[in-house]
Amino acid sequence: MFDYIVIGSGSAGSTIAGRLSEFGRNSVLILEAGESDKRLPIMMPAATYLKAIANPKFDWHYKAASDPTRNGRADYMPRGKVLGGSSSINGMCYVRGQPEDFDDWAESGCKGWSAADVLPYYKRSEGNENGASEFHGAEGPLTVSNIRERHPLSDAFLAAAGTAGLRVTQDINVPPHDGIGYIQVTQKNGWRCSAARAFLWPAIKRKNVKLVTHAHVRRVLFEGRQACGVEYTHGGNTLTAKARNAVVVCAGALSSPQLLMLSGIGPAAHLRDKGIDAIEDIPGVGQNFHDHPGTNISVEVTLPTYNMMKKLYQHLYYGAQWLFTGTGPGSTPDAHVIGFTRSNPQSNRCDLQYHFTPAGYDLTETGPTLFDIPAVTGYTNVHRPWSRGWIRLKTANPFDQPEIQPNLFEDSRDMDTLITGSRILRRIFQAEPMAQFVKRELIPVIAVSDSLYDSEIRLGCDSLRRADSGAGGGYGSAG
Ligand SMILES: Cc1cc2nc3c(=O)[nH]c(=O)nc-3n(C[C@H](O)[C@H](O)[C@H](O)COP(=O)(O)OP(=O)(O)OC[C@H]3O[C@@H](n4cnc5c(N)ncnc54)[C@H](O)[C@@H]3O)c2cc1C
Repeated sequence: MFDYIVIGSGSAGSTIAGRLSEFGRNSVLILEAGESDKRLPIMMPAATYLKAIANPKFDWHYKAASDPTRNGRADYMPRGKVLGGSSSINGMCYVRGQPEDFDDWAESGCKGWSAADVLPYYKRSEGNENGASEFHGAEGPLTVSNIRERHPLSDAFLAAAGTAGLRVTQDINVPPHDGIGYIQVTQKNGWRCSAARAFLWPAIKRKNVKLVTHAHVRRVLFEGRQACGVEYTHGGNTLTAKARNAVVVCAGALSSPQLLMLSGIGPAAHLRDKGIDAIEDIPGVGQNFHDHPGTNISVEVTLPTYNMMKKLYQHLYYGAQWLFTGTGPGSTPDAHVIGFTRSNPQSNRCDLQYHFTPAGYDLTETGPTLFDIPAVTGYTNVHRPWSRGWIRLKTANPFDQPEIQPNLFEDSRDMDTLITGSRILRRIFQAEPMAQFVKRELIPVIAVSDSLYDSEIRLGCDSLRRADSGAGGGYGSAG
């Protein structure tokens, strides 16, 4: 019996469990399906891309349903299955939600959630290396650092973005939202600072906190319409735990709706279909799923890039450099430069996001694949998509994956936005000082004129690469 049970130790679960247990008054149980995060592929930033993402040991490795809006493409969707959840395998880019999104929520009646309302919480959680300011906190547990090593091509890309007309900024988390600049990262001395490291590691030292890893929650238990506990599998046994005050479902954007439906909370007809009695008929559970469709442009360049560091001696050298100094390619985040802009200059808010990485890779249906030649990658995504997908149960078995339908281009406005975003990205690669380093375009596969490039995108959706699933809290938008 506990005061609170928290399901999942990801960004949300670690934070809430840490805060709930802070003053020793509440007993808190945290149940996490994955294992400990004290592993090299989690702690070392670069190792995550090579050894944690797409590795079923740390990644749920979801496979989405075939998407009718993209010629049936069925994507792999990464989600962390480890202490810290997706914050333990993510790109570490510290990007706050768009202020206007929060304001919309507040205007829609969600009192206390405007950008001004949430700013003190952002500041309180953050330990920013650059110190406290109007927009940043310096005393919080989540360490936010400057990037440890600037690659010359990141400098060139940023300057070229300025040439192409984007607003270059020193801090992308300070309003206005339009702007492009170097990212800050959730790292401490070049090591990943996940939500678990920030909030949970200190919490589990407290006597009032119990953490169980390898604990797969099967369903939330109810007394009448009141959640009173959970049923979970651990070490082959089915166990129950009871909660006096609340069960907090923090299983992530894909697993939380699945878990609710397995527990009888969701669309009654769908649950009946799967042999589950509905406790509460809530048609919206699993609906309104949105993700960021994105596409990359990768170009071959004349300078060495991180994707070339594949040889064993390089791994040993850069591994040792990271271990002893916390610097070098071993500390690289997912993107070095991030920016936001508007596909329509008349629009009152940003709807496009850019990432730049001094590494050339392709995003295939099975995950990222590094090129064998020096290359860099720019990435555009639709920041505020209109298309909506859904999540349903495939079966009533809690160990089966849910059915995930992204429906990424259900609404043609998203395709139009992405085309405009790709044109702008291409313009950046063609602008100086970046252009002098570019040898040729590798993706989208053939170097084509802008008009052909457009028709290629319009006709051949297979050439589109989807976003690396920021599902439900994908970075940059608050949605
Ligand atoms: C590859 C990748 C890169 C990303 N890069 C960035 C980035 O650079 N910047 C950024 O801001 N955001 C990034 N994101 C997004 C960000 O990490 C997520 O939005 C955020 O971590 C989601 O937090 P969450 O608590 O909702 O879910 P998660 O962090 O996914 O946590 C859910 C937890 O619940 C556990 N769980 C699920 N089901 C069960 C069950 N039945 N029983 C017990 N436990 C269960 C999971 O194992 C997991 O630990 C990225 C995401 C991914 C996947």
